[in-house]
Amino acid sequence: MKKIALFPGSFDPYTMGHHDIVLRGLKLFDQIVISIGHNTSKKNRYFDIELMVGKIEKVYQNIPEVKVVLYNELTSSLAKKHGATYLLRGLRNTTDFEYENTISQMNRYLNEELETVFLITSPEFAAISSTIIREVHRYGGKVDEFLPYEV
Ligand code: ADP
Repeated sequence: MKKIALFPGSFDPYTMGHHDIVLRGLKLFDQIVISIGHNTSKKNRYFDIELMVGKIEKVYQNIPEVKVVLYNELTSSLAKKHGATYLLRGLRNTTDFEYENTISQMNRYLNEELETVFLITSPEFAAISSTIIREVHRYGGKVDEFLPYEV
């Protein structure tokens, strides 16, 4: 059976930190579905969602094991649709842990087939967050080095 993992997130924007998790995840899973959620609380994105899909698709254009989807439903339901039995998430610090702990418990309650697999951030990407990149970009700072594509 194919091991399929969803990699869910807002990806506003998709960063080198996310890219690193996917590349490492490919050693564990046969397929990774990068799933960009556009839920109500994060409706006001900074980077256009369609633009982000296009950029991410281009990053993985030569890696057929990676695909990109948009979603607006429970992650646990989306996983079922894609035959995914794993959620892939990255962990940078204890703040991530507190948050990830609760959503991972809830996702397994909603879909008991679903196991969340956490990869600890690579040290060179540990300080990269979408939030800080948005702030730097907003005020005209250079962010290219933190993204696996050009904006
Ligand atoms: P969300 O809005 O669900 O928190 P994000 O787009 O911010 O989604 O992040 C998606 C996943 O990637 C989360 O598991 C997050 O912890 C992880 N992540 C974000 N930045 C990094 C990084 N620099 N290194 C490792 N994991 C990261």
